[in-house]
Amino acid sequence: MNKAYKVILVAMSGVRVFNEKLFKTGLTLPGFVDRSRVIASLPSLGLLTLAAHTPENWEVIYKELDAYSNDDIVAILDEKPNIVAFSALTARINETYQLAARFRKQGITVVIGGLHASALPDEAKAHADAVVQGECEMLWEGLLKDYENKVLKNLYSSLSEPKMAFQLDDSRVPAYNLLDINNYNRLTIQTTRGCSHHCNFCAASRTISEYKKKPVELIKKELDKIFEIWEDPFIELADDNTFIDKKWSKELLKLFANYKMKWFTETDISIAYDDKLLELLAKSNCMQVLIGFESINLESLKGLDGGWKSKQFDNYSKAIDKIQSYGITVNGCFVLGFDSDTKETFRETEKFIRESKLSDVQITILTAFPCTDLYYQLKKENRLLPDYWDKCTLFDVTYIPKNFSVVELENEFQNLMTRVYSDDLVKKRKKIFKQTLLNRRKFITS
Ligand code: SF4
Repeated sequence: MNKAYKVILVAMSGVRVFNEKLFKTGLTLPGFVDRSRVIASLPSLGLLTLAAHTPENWEVIYKELDAYSNDDIVAILDEKPNIVAFSALTARINETYQLAARFRKQGITVVIGGLHASALPDEAKAHADAVVQGECEMLWEGLLKDYENKVLKNLYSSLSEPKMAFQLDDSRVPAYNLLDINNYNRLTIQTTRGCSHHCNFCAASRTISEYKKKPVELIKKELDKIFEIWEDPFIELADDNTFIDKKWSKELLKLFANYKMKWFTETDISIAYDDKLLELLAKSNCMQVLIGFESINLESLKGLDGGWKSKQFDNYSKAIDKIQSYGITVNGCFVLGFDSDTKETFRETEKFIRESKLSDVQITILTAFPCTDLYYQLKKENRLLPDYWDKCTLFDVTYIPKNFSVVELENEFQNLMTRVYSDDLVKKRKKIFKQTLLNRRKFITS
């Protein structure tokens, strides 16, 4: 059926590293590359959700632009869309603005949304016909209607006063049918939005929405849809911190146990204190939880989130062992470059990683994402580097560090990467990973 209008949803997907030396190092480190590949191949759940909220009279095309050529852009132009709508994070926002200019020159209406545009809508407005700030589900249909009526506004916001909050009870199943499933090794679903912790560097937890949960019966509908197109899927939860509400989490895990799937999510260390939850995680075939331990420097943890994380510090090793005793592998995340960090912190981080029984590790550099508490603090102290959006990759330095020069921090980080992802440590973690999964057998067969 010919539709009256056409929108192309463009995900600026993929992982970027600005520092060339670090980029080249990363390309040769197997443990680092594995996770980067997974992230790069995840579809944009935000755009698939928008697609589900698009009225019938609009044709929807979904595209991902990671490594792309001029032919890819020409192919989008050849579709003659009415609207091209981008979703982009800070690291690729300048690239998005350049593409937006090219499309607008051809008379195509450009819409920009996502975390960066939500944090800095005034900046994005200079590059788009319309900016979507905050939760798109409530705004999208109105935006398209305004386009049809030739009264498009330059800002659609759920965050400006009076604030609007989307109820996850009203969620629609994302349009997974737009994907060629052969191109993906994981699909994403969202079960919670936001996070009740308030880490000062975190852009994900509050920019779009306060913490909220999706009703379990709606999550079931999404799983059913995925199973229609993929009989044995690997699911990655697109949540910031899944298991904040333990009672709701147990209902979620009982649902997951009914499906033949492997899955992964991000959470905090508190799951280690709840045996029943761990048992349900094991029974539902959770392969891995990614936990932000953030730092092994207690001083850096203090003041990070009001104090909760620093209180967990002494439990790190015990928590990792406990979670993995249930057959759930732990991917530990550490951030380097806090004001209290010194060269000693890099050595201590390596020592902790070396001595711990972590199945996987992720290290990143503290990043001043726009409009986070960290950003405002560094801005006030005049320590933000000029024009650094491209460097918001988690692997580049975006500010003037306290105890290092920029180059020293880059070098310390690169050296730590090389050691943490060395052949012997990657091999050791792979062995732990396999052994950990064996622990799950006793819960699945019981
Ligand atoms: S616990 Fe994680 S998701 Fe929550 S605020 Fe901290 S960094 Fe963000």
